[in-house]
Parts: sequence; C-alpha cells; structure tokens
Amino acid sequence: MEGQPAYRAKQIRDGVWRRNAKTSAEIHPLPVALRARLDRAFRVDTIAADEITISDRGLTEKMLHPLSDGALIESVLMHYPARGHGEDGRPEHRERYTLCISSQAGCAVGCPFCATGELGFGRDLETAEILDQVRHAARRLAPTVAGGHDAHLTNVVFMGMGEPLLNLDRVLEAVAALSDPQRFGLGARHVVVSTSGVVPGIRRLTQLNPQFTLAISLHAARDPLRDVLVPLNRRWPVAEVVAAARAHARVTGRRVSYEYVMISGVNDTDVDADALSALLRGDLAHVNLIPMNPVAHTPWQASSPERVTHFAARLREGGIGATVRRNRGQDAGAACGQLAADRAGEPPAPAVAHRREVIIRQSEVAMKGDRSGERLSADLEAAVAGQKADR
Ligand code: SF4
Repeated sequence: MEGQPAYRAKQIRDGVWRRNAKTSAEIHPLPVALRARLDRAFRVDTIAADEITISDRGLTEKMLHPLSDGALIESVLMHYPARGHGEDGRPEHRERYTLCISSQAGCAVGCPFCATGELGFGRDLETAEILDQVRHAARRLAPTVAGGHDAHLTNVVFMGMGEPLLNLDRVLEAVAALSDPQRFGLGARHVVVSTSGVVPGIRRLTQLNPQFTLAISLHAARDPLRDVLVPLNRRWPVAEVVAAARAHARVTGRRVSYEYVMISGVNDTDVDADALSALLRGDLAHVNLIPMNPVAHTPWQASSPERVTHFAARLREGGIGATVRRNRGQDAGAACGQLAADRAGEPPAPAVAHRREVIIRQSEVAMKGDRSGERLSADLEAAVAGQKADR
C-alpha cells in the first residue's frame, strides 16, 4: 500500500494467511486509518458464511458457503485420526485433516451420479473464493490448537463442486498460494487436483511439471459407459484421457490417481474390472474405489461392500493397485453438491422422472456396448470451447 512502511505488507500477509482473518479489524496491529483504507480497496474475505453440517461422529464437517453474489459452493473437512502403532510407539498413520474444495459454483460436466452435475453450471470461482474455503477451514481448526491439540490442515483436494481444469488459471494461482511458505505453507505434495478428463488441461499441467498429485475421475474404462457417466468423455474419450495421464506420470514421475465411483450393476462387473486392469496395466497409477453417494434423480444404487471388495481384489490380481475409500458424511448429504441442491429445492417430480428415464435409456444403450453418439450439453460445449487446441 502506497506511503506505508514495508513491514505493513508482512503484517497484512500474516493476518490473512497465519491468522486467517475475516476482517481488517482482525489484522493486528494495523492502525485504524489504514484498516479503513484497506476496507475501501479490498475484501479480506469473499465467503459470506459457513453453514456447517457435522456427521461421522464429528469426523466430517460439510460446509455450505454462500458467496457475495448469492452463489453457493461447498467444502468438506474430513478428520482422519492417527491409527496403528509402530515398534517405536508412534502411529503408523499420522493424523490428517483433509479439505475438499470447490473450483466452480455448479458444474457443466453433468455426471448423472453427482448432485452438482444436476445443478448445472453457475460460474468459475475467483482465486480468492477458492482460497477462502481453505482459510475458513484452517480457522475452524484453530480452536483445537488453543485446546492444546496440534490440529492443522494436512491435505487439500480439488474434488468439490466444479471441474478444476475448466478453471485452470485460477486453480493454479490457488495452488501457488497454498504451497508458498510465506502464505499458506502447505507443500504441493499435499495437494490433489482432479479432472474428469480435460485433455488439453492435463497436457498443460504436464508442461508445468507440478508437484501436486493429478487425479482422474474415470468411473468407467469403456467409452459407451463413460459417455453416460462422465459426459465429457464424448469430447475426450478414455484412451485419450489415459494417454495424457500416462504422459503426465512419465514426465513428472508422480503417480496418477484414478477415482472410480462404484455403481451397482452399472460399472462394478468383472468385465469392468478387467477392462480397467487392461487399460492401466504397467502405468504409474493407483485406483481409488468410492461407493456412490445416493442422489435423488438417479435410478442407481451404490455397489455393495462385498462387490467393492471383490472389484478391488480383481484389480489387484490384474496388477493394479487399488484402495477402497470410505464414503464420508453420507448422513450430512456428502454427495458433491447435495447441500446446494437441497437449498435450491426439489425439482418438480415430472422433471426428476424424465431425468431418470433418460439415464436408464442411455445406460441400456451403453450396456449393450454401443456409443449413443449424443452431443455435449450447450453449457459443456461452451465450457470446453477454449480447451481444444493443445497449448
Ligand atoms: S462429478 Fe465432478 S465433474 Fe462430474 S458433474 Fe460432479 S463436480 Fe462436475
């Protein structure tokens, strides 16, 4: 700020990033006149409120954040207590606090098992709106520190609302701030950026050689089925997505995670497991299996625990590392976008029934092994329009 001594910049930076201030009044020890100037020029916080729903006996906190223009986004804070003990008495798995954050309000991709997809696309988030989700969670953990418990965010994953690679410039700015020791100070290796398969974005990331983990939301290894489950597949099919991810792993030396939502009788058969094994065999890759969270408009159910275990075992037999992830916060509406969808109100019953019929028809075609040839939605077409050319 003009006319101010240089140390003021550090005071403001520490106030924003170390104390996670919500207002300039919380940035000590700034003079009152300077705070007033700051308030005229900047917003310290872009999130209007945290509406919190707690589940999993206190281990999961789902937050609905209204933004200044009324847009709603969600973040989820998940606590993983330390577990197991090594010979030295220390825990084998250290305590973690993982925050799942949104990169867009709504999403244009429209995956039919996802509540956000059904909400449609609102807008891209500003960099500050992405980062303020992290600052709010860090602030919520602070009282735990005061209570003598050394709690802090250990991991941030871009797996909330939105497709991060369709808002890539701002996501990259946010990751830079998260990993900057003078700002949030979280190592990039503790950050995961997911994508449903924006191939030009993956290639751009590869050129940047980032230290964070890339996660591919795959959900099906066969094009006809993935066209239905992840409509972006109609633009960039499975082979192209996996080839880009494979190149990313080769250049960065970092293992790629593949996320796979398990849907009973849809993508959890032995044929699907074998197709996935064949697709990833020999790659620097790991598969995370996640039982589907139920959402109102889909005709589908989550795979049974036995089916998920069997699918994981079959992948391992096929030479693919696989982990079964527990579904966190189901009783808190943990499906991505569920809280915002609830706030938007139930869509009319005929609309839900029509949507179900469309999904059933599309999946029946896919189960026969045929690609439907359906086009992208207008929203998604617009969103990917600037992504086609390789950079
Ligand atoms: S699963 Fe992800 S990419 Fe698909 S609609 Fe939901 S937020 Fe968008």
